[in-house]
Amino acid sequence: KVCVHCKSDRSDHELPPNQALNVYNRLGIQPPAGMPQSGVAEVEVPGSVGHGYAWVPPGLSRKKVEEYMSQLPNNVVPRTNSSGEKLREKQLLVQLPRQDLSVAYCRHLTTQTERKVYEEFVNARNEIALDIGYVSSNINKAMECHKCSGILETNEMAVIAPKLGDSTGWHPACFTCQTCEQLLVDLTYCVKDSQIYCERHYAELHKPRCSACDEVRSLPIC
Ligand SMILES: [Zn+2]
Ligand SMILES: [Zn+2]
Ligand SMILES: [Zn+2]
Repeated sequence: KVCVHCKSDRSDHELPPNQALNVYNRLGIQPPAGMPQSGVAEVEVPGSVGHGYAWVPPGLSRKKVEEYMSQLPNNVVPRTNSSGEKLREKQLLVQLPRQDLSVAYCRHLTTQTERKVYEEFVNARNEIALDIGYVSSNINKAMECHKCSGILETNEMAVIAPKLGDSTGWHPACFTCQTCEQLLVDLTYCVKDSQIYCERHYAELHKPRCSACDEVRSLPIC
């Protein structure tokens, strides 16, 4: 299906194969020290930060990385060369559509006004909503998981979303988008009304998405 407005389809937004797949590149921000720069085609050095995974939460010891991974459903664990790694790459493209991240990939924006509206949306989102969570390996007081309401005990591991403050936490497997219920890829989330979403579904709370070209837009969709 091709969009009647911009004459492109969703595959026009896909990355060429073997291009670095990580949220930092995608969002255009600096990764924290010690993060692998690329999720793909990285040579695995024994004892390196990857620990045999295409992605690990930053700042955890190897033991804590294993504890984090063991709490995830097996099919989403991004072990190098596994179907979990492929799923993560797919989820990066799905949850963080690059046409939502940079005007350079949008074909719908033909007028100055459309560009301006888009840029205002991106700036506001980056300012108030979009962020990367982190794993606290031992929380210092018990809290309720924001998703399942189960208790996270003192010294248990929890995912924290700084935009909602450090007294709100999730089980690793509960850190999912409110709309699609997929695990938030590399802990990247957007917040709206105290709920967390992937970027795709956050954007769709504000604007409809064209089903042909996969861009969100303020004008009638095709
Ligand atoms: Zn379209
Ligand atoms: Zn939970
Ligand atoms: Zn989602």
